Amino acid sequence: MQTIHAGQCGLCTHFGESHHNDKVLVSIMTSKKAELNVLDECGHPKHAMLHLKVTPISGCDGFTPAASA
Ligand code: SF4
Repeated sequence: MQTIHAGQCGLCTHFGESHHNDKVLVSIMTSKKAELNVLDECGHPKHAMLHLKVTPISGCDGFTPAASA
């Protein structure tokens, strides 16, 4: 498990945006920890059409804090 910090995908509203209630995503948001082999889509409007996949410790300037983070 790796601790996830603000600015990283695991705490971004766009991480797995199409299935926010997924228990793995909820767990990452609440515990701020994640397995490093988690891979999910980025729903940011600039990335979605590219089907960008990111890990919880990835990040970009489009970071937007998830409501529950
Ligand atoms: S790549 Fe950027 S916009 Fe997408 S989930 Fe990660 S921090 Fe958020």
